[in-house]
Amino acid sequence: MNIIIATTELVPYAKTGGLADITEFLPLEWQKFGQNPIIILPKYGFIDTDYWGFKPTNKILNIPISYWHEHPRLWQGFLPNSNVPVYLVEYDEYFNRPGIYGSPEEYPDNDRRFIFFCRAVMETAKVLNFHPDILHAHDFHAAFTLAFLKTHYKHDIQFARTAGVLTIHNLAYQGWFFPDRAMNLAGFSSKDFYPGCWFEQKGMLNAMKTGIMFADKITTVSQTYADEIRTPYYSEGLQESLNIRGGDLVGVLNGIDYTQWSPDKDEYLTHKYDIDSLDKKRNNKYALLEEFGISENDNRDIPLVGIVTRMTEQKGLDLVMDKIEPFIEHDQMKLIVLGSGDQKYVDYFNYLHSKYPKKCITYIGYNNNLAHKIYGSADFILIPSRFEPCGLTQMYALKYGTIPIVRQTGGLADTVSEYSSLSGFGNGFSFFNYNSDELAYAIRRGLDLYWSDIHWHLLQKNAMASDFSSGKTALEYLKVFKWALDKVRND
Ligand code: ADP
Repeated sequence: MNIIIATTELVPYAKTGGLADITEFLPLEWQKFGQNPIIILPKYGFIDTDYWGFKPTNKILNIPISYWHEHPRLWQGFLPNSNVPVYLVEYDEYFNRPGIYGSPEEYPDNDRRFIFFCRAVMETAKVLNFHPDILHAHDFHAAFTLAFLKTHYKHDIQFARTAGVLTIHNLAYQGWFFPDRAMNLAGFSSKDFYPGCWFEQKGMLNAMKTGIMFADKITTVSQTYADEIRTPYYSEGLQESLNIRGGDLVGVLNGIDYTQWSPDKDEYLTHKYDIDSLDKKRNNKYALLEEFGISENDNRDIPLVGIVTRMTEQKGLDLVMDKIEPFIEHDQMKLIVLGSGDQKYVDYFNYLHSKYPKKCITYIGYNNNLAHKIYGSADFILIPSRFEPCGLTQMYALKYGTIPIVRQTGGLADTVSEYSSLSGFGNGFSFFNYNSDELAYAIRRGLDLYWSDIHWHLLQKNAMASDFSSGKTALEYLKVFKWALDKVRND
């Protein structure tokens, strides 16, 4: 299959969240299965093109936008250590900025930037003479490609047998645009915008809804989230569209790349270990605590709980703020927090560190190295999300024998099951209601179990044996693609 991946994030060039990991590993896996993927990404100013081996091509695109044309240049490179082609769309006016979506506020011209990018994806296929079987669009930023596929390019022989698939990574971000302006930029008549049309949501143009309605098939990143988003609490207002398309909506659980995330190979760890040498993990904990000035006299053997996260309301940090301090104060655990985001959470974790410098480590910022070390050192990882489409953090943690304490929602519900000391099954701790008492009780259960050697080791082994390999995920997507192709070719 010829597959186009249209995305605004891609490891290792541009990442704010899990989306970037997925768009990297899927094509790597697909290529192993004999498929032919290409990736198209904006050329952000912060991508070090020399370092990553990108070269400008002589291909200049002709992008219709409103009543004029713009002419970005295409750059080409390959995903590191592979021959998966990556094309960057160079247009400095839109993409030579410090952020992907904003810095820190959303850029006010995101409608124009992403509509332009979507059109550029279609035109890239044209100039490369690439005949896609699948156009795989990720999140709202790439969703307009699916509208273009079924409208402006509907009669284009190059796309005649192309199926469009939308993957929703996070429904909280939808792309709300002013209709007149966005319709015009995208080359549609304002007459095509009316209440109830495929573009419209609450009187605005909604890019995510547009993608949902125009896609042949829709996936999201876990089965539980696929079910949840058809209900008002989780749908962020799109439950009607998602229910209309319910028969074409499935969940495909994300996977992770165990070549990059595995404690026996992880270069960031002071002490590598595997399922049979779990006792070495403790040495990583000592090394990490030492790095932050916590020495052997500082009660280093109590459980270390980690948080690695974007600091947004989604991640359930309000529940943490409500209940975590007494656990720290009374020396039942230490906390290490890595993240950045909303000021109130930043302030809170800085406060905790200033009050308990030997008990709470706070690192504000993005630090991949430290993320690896936390997975390789902490005893628990805390993910009490209000909603979680899939979540990669718990999957990484499990592989490192770091026990997740999670809220039972979305992908967290599909990957973490409560440990039972009766049966010996289960790989973590979870709670159902978005309620800080339930969180505190789940933490309590975890901290208690930590001191029971037999159960703790069994639990850690269960965690490390959980398998969420990216190969499985990639195969599941190929099944969805076949299903999408059957639809298009039988229509
Ligand atoms: P989301 O995509 O909603 O942010 P996921 O759990 O799917 O959540 O993915 C988060 C990814 O980002 C994980 O790979 C996690 O390790 C990483 N991450 C989050 N915050 C940071 C940070 N401050 N520094 C380094 N890595 C981070």
